Amino acid sequence: MSSPERDNAERAYVLAHLDDLHADLDAWLRIPSISADPLHAADVAASASWLAEALRRTGFPTVEIWPTPGAPAVYAEWPSADPNAPVALVYGHHDVQPVDPLELWVHPPFEPTVVEGADGPELHARGAIDDKGNVAFHLLGMRAHLAATGRDTPAVTVKLLIEGEEESGSPHFADLLREKRDRLDCDVVVVSDTGMAAPHLPSAVTSMRGLADAEITLRGPAVDLHSGSFGGAVPNPLHAMAQLLASLHDDEGRVTLPGFYDKVRPLTERERELMGRVPFDEQAWLAGPAASRVTTGEAGFTTQERIGARPTAEVNGLWGGYQGPGHKTIIPAEAHAKLTFRLVADQRPGDVGDQVRAWVEANLPAGIVAEVHAPPAGVAPCASDLDSPWMDALLRAIAQAWNSSPDDVLFMKEGGSGPEADLVEQLGAPLLFLGAGLPTDRIHSPNERVLLSMLHRGAEATAHLWRELATMRPGGQTTS
Ligand SMILES: [Zn+2]
Repeated sequence: MSSPERDNAERAYVLAHLDDLHADLDAWLRIPSISADPLHAADVAASASWLAEALRRTGFPTVEIWPTPGAPAVYAEWPSADPNAPVALVYGHHDVQPVDPLELWVHPPFEPTVVEGADGPELHARGAIDDKGNVAFHLLGMRAHLAATGRDTPAVTVKLLIEGEEESGSPHFADLLREKRDRLDCDVVVVSDTGMAAPHLPSAVTSMRGLADAEITLRGPAVDLHSGSFGGAVPNPLHAMAQLLASLHDDEGRVTLPGFYDKVRPLTERERELMGRVPFDEQAWLAGPAASRVTTGEAGFTTQERIGARPTAEVNGLWGGYQGPGHKTIIPAEAHAKLTFRLVADQRPGDVGDQVRAWVEANLPAGIVAEVHAPPAGVAPCASDLDSPWMDALLRAIAQAWNSSPDDVLFMKEGGSGPEADLVEQLGAPLLFLGAGLPTDRIHSPNERVLLSMLHRGAEATAHLWRELATMRPGGQTTS
């Protein structure tokens, strides 16, 4: 168990070495590691090399760059001297989003700049929090853990896997996990690519949604027809598509695909209560990030539950027929739509294609032929177990760093999707989320920032976490 003096030792070390963290980030953030842009491939490689060097400098005895058919990942390992200590694997990424439109940046995106903000100093740069800031605090956190506990090796074996293609959809990540599976054995996965509700509201993300997509083509006449000679007498695929998509949700806002909700884990009263504790100003959200006039969605659920805890369907694109200047009086031969579905535990992305096909078949007007293209892969949803002792250790670590109590750490559900489910599926270990981002950090947008005080607490929290996890034994048992 922790004591106040120990708590102070980790924090004291972090606060005495903030310059190191700031210098590391300043150097790393200058490397424009944009994975989406082939012109930046050398920069993504340079970013991997920088991180590998920083991990060696921190003391990790094993540091390797793992090439993929795309951008390289960085792997590091520091075994605990205790052979029975649990093994934790940290996941993050070193690539960043593109920066356009460049003219909207107040400071150049790859020239990190400290700006005085309402909550204290902020560091502005692309990648400041997503995800270089979240990864960089592990460097100082590890040093603080060793110094504060007087150890030569960490209390738990720590592995890091920091990929280089997350912002491009992690196309080679699952293959990399398969290829390196024997190196990646672990008892718990710590994802550092998320954030908290507010600077004064220590919180832990507990789930991420999955993703599946489908493209629908409807065909009517074999060629575009004259609307005067044939209109009103043969089926129009655009009308059929409009009808079909209008039936995607029922009057209660529920998705009508057959079987869509069958595997959805119901939201428990406790989860709803915990989610409800996270402060949320709906009017401010509408006026700000949502830029919309009203909220909508599945009846019986709050806006936060709709985003984080319920599955959804969205039409992302819809096209067909004539779209040029003036009029072209036709019955078009084809209509097209692109759809995506956000999924929650325990839905499987591979099921969605069949559900879409069955739904299209059941709702298709006579004389229209449908083709549904739905890639089977998708992204699976993932969730932490709120009641596991691993989660207790995380809550204790966060609470100590934020001067709070474990019972006051809020639970948040992340509406987005990432490769975390691959980690769970392939490594079979439970998932914890520890990130220092904020909803106001403008990730993926111009003027991305990180609040420096959040980074400092993030470093301290990891230092506590390695100590707290050491009280666990592999298999999830707590030692007495
Ligand atoms: Zn990220």
